[in-house]
Amino acid sequence: MTEPADLVVVNAEVHTLADPDETYDAFAVRDGRVVRLGTTYDVEFLAGADTETIDADGRVAIPGLIDAHTHLLNSGRSLVHADLSAADSPADAVELLRERAHEIEEDEWVLGFGYDESSWDDSRYLTREDLHEVSETVPVVAFREDMHVAAVNDPVLDRLGDEMPDEDVRTGGGEPTGVIVEKAVDPVYEAIEPDAEEAEELIRAAQATANERGVTMIHDMVRQSKAPQVYRDLDLADELTLRVRINYWVDHFDALVDAGLRTNHGSDMVQVGGVKSYTDGTFGGRTAKLHDPYADDADETGTWVLDPEEIRDLVTRADDHGFQVTLHAIGDAAIDAVLDAYEETDDPGTARYRIEHSELASDEAIERMADMGVVASMQPNFHKWGFEGGLYDARLGERRTDANRLPAYLDAGAPLAFGSDCMPLDPLLGVHYAVNAPSEDQSLDVTEALRAYTAGAAYAGFDKDRLGTLERGKRADFVLLDDSPWERPDRIDEVAVALTAVDGDVVYDGR
Ligand SMILES: [Zn+2]
Repeated sequence: MTEPADLVVVNAEVHTLADPDETYDAFAVRDGRVVRLGTTYDVEFLAGADTETIDADGRVAIPGLIDAHTHLLNSGRSLVHADLSAADSPADAVELLRERAHEIEEDEWVLGFGYDESSWDDSRYLTREDLHEVSETVPVVAFREDMHVAAVNDPVLDRLGDEMPDEDVRTGGGEPTGVIVEKAVDPVYEAIEPDAEEAEELIRAAQATANERGVTMIHDMVRQSKAPQVYRDLDLADELTLRVRINYWVDHFDALVDAGLRTNHGSDMVQVGGVKSYTDGTFGGRTAKLHDPYADDADETGTWVLDPEEIRDLVTRADDHGFQVTLHAIGDAAIDAVLDAYEETDDPGTARYRIEHSELASDEAIERMADMGVVASMQPNFHKWGFEGGLYDARLGERRTDANRLPAYLDAGAPLAFGSDCMPLDPLLGVHYAVNAPSEDQSLDVTEALRAYTAGAAYAGFDKDRLGTLERGKRADFVLLDDSPWERPDRIDEVAVALTAVDGDVVYDGR
């Protein structure tokens, strides 16, 4: 006699997203794992008196979405502080910051997150003059969406200016404009770092949003924050509703080694990932490191955050201690330098070294990634800047369509994982852009795009055996979608998540 299931999901269009993708009408879950897939009749056979039944009502079921690159605490910040992604002009952003200033204590810092000037008609960075319309006495900070660029007002410059390297503080007529980039942003982060209580508030808000968007696991990038503590506290309290793989910033490296932490060690819900660092900046800030100058600044080729020697040093240290390495590299020069460093290690593929963003990779670089088994951890939502007349057109000119050539990675056989970078935290929006890309050479089909956000991301986190597909024996992390992305490929951004489950437990139900 077969043991009854804990949960059956029936009347669905179940996509396993395995290779090849197979479809079923129903599946059953026991002890958090998928135990059977089949027709509704086959699966209902496993329902006992205590079995929960979800009638999917014809909806599409796919494996839980794994976001391979998040900053969850930051995405919680735009849910709690001023959300500047909603602004469509500098004046609008100022207005949102003013509203936030009214909500908080008089001496509290006014913080806004997520502005994207490339979507504005008045396409310029916010400046200290803008922020002085919010306050000239209380610190005000507006972070650009990429977090590599921020605007600060005089009270911030007065307090923290000494800690900001001159070359990263933008000036006009000898005076700071209030625009700061890269290393000048670091002291600001430190000054506004949430304490444990605020960190928990931010993470709870962001985890709820993630579940609403169908996310069942994140690979989170954490730096000098209380986030790892909060994840483990929530896990111990059984209140964590998404799996978290923590990639620690390189600042923590010695502490990780001293504390005896190991890549891949952890619980079912919280794991230690790799060591993370930037190597360069972004196209938006003209700080991504290029071989040839920017199209809109012939003297600029970008900025090393870690130069090639420092990259080699970091990779060697991580390799010696058996840690996965995950390096942000956007410009072609930065990507080549990271690959040079990875190539010097014994087995970059087994160590599953990653390149975050990997935007302007050459054919040769993509080929090297495939040969070495280096994971390309990419953000298809970045295509939003890649269209004609957009930000990448301005910065890169003709090289615009050389960036984010997603199919080239699959053609070469390089492991491809997708993440959102929380710009915004919305994998289906990313799938939409992957399918509806600026050019043919940058676009995937629906199945390929969804796979990079499921099995591909699972591979990047050493999780292929338990996550990433809806197959027998895998953890029952799944999502029900109101519409089929295969049936409306041009409007995947409008496909709503109806229900999200982790280990067969429903963590979001919007039906
Ligand atoms: Zn990031």
